[in-house]
Amino acid sequence: MLYIGSHVGFNKNTQLLGSAKEALKYKANTFMFYTGAPQNTARSQIVDELTLEALQLLKENNIDYSKVIVHAPYIINLCNEEKFSFSVDFLTEELERVNQLGIKYLVLHPGSHVGLGIEKGIDNIVKGINMAFQNLGKTNNVTILLETMAGKGTEVGSNLDEIKKIIEGIEDKDHIGVCLDTCHLNDAGYDLNKFDEYLNEFDKTIGISKIGCIHINDSKNERSSHKDRHENIGYGTIPFDTLISIIYNERLKDIPRILETPYVDKLYAPYKQEIEMIRNKKFDDNLLDKIRIDNK
Ligand SMILES: [Zn+2]
Repeated sequence: MLYIGSHVGFNKNTQLLGSAKEALKYKANTFMFYTGAPQNTARSQIVDELTLEALQLLKENNIDYSKVIVHAPYIINLCNEEKFSFSVDFLTEELERVNQLGIKYLVLHPGSHVGLGIEKGIDNIVKGINMAFQNLGKTNNVTILLETMAGKGTEVGSNLDEIKKIIEGIEDKDHIGVCLDTCHLNDAGYDLNKFDEYLNEFDKTIGISKIGCIHINDSKNERSSHKDRHENIGYGTIPFDTLISIIYNERLKDIPRILETPYVDKLYAPYKQEIEMIRNKKFDDNLLDKIRIDNK
């Protein structure tokens, strides 16, 4: 079964119910959201009544809630020593919120070492995640998925060796995994036309069973650019057929695929049409115009 969805909103008035309704509008069967604005710390109390209503709606639409993902805000940077205790506290609170929502996966950018060096950066990430898990103790049911990064600036986690080292340091091995991102892999230097070779390497170093989610994005930039700018599916530098073969790769079946592609003209969500195109497996070079027209 193909689990495909996109990034959706989450606001304080409708919470999970609003997110679920948005995903259904896109004919998605999974989705991902931030529990608040990713660049600030304002978060509202999770309202269980809204969660229960959302769960009912998802059930009526045969959507498997265990495939739904939360993305941690990128203000968390466990590498940065000046922000370390803030980041650990905020990650702890975020884990509490995700547990309260009953969601299994939290995607986390490993962090940027801001000049401390990769080794120190990795040590700090390991320490920070272990502390957050200890803060929750046995109440935690959430798995943190470390996202593969493009290697922009001083980002940690743009190759398998760095991800492997982080995982090795985590005490609670049952609650740590990986989220792949096709744009980031391309920008980090991996040739996605040879995705099965990448999976072989992944399996040898980390173990393929650790992959919990894939972000499906095209890239505005060439391979190895270390840029991280997402593009609509088929409109960037990664061949459409390559993305399709990753989406339908049998070795990763049952793992949610999440689109984080940009809004068209910064106004219109592309997800309904992109999901439809992916299901048809046929590139539509009029897709962006179609999205504009559909939204008029
Ligand atoms: Zn991400």
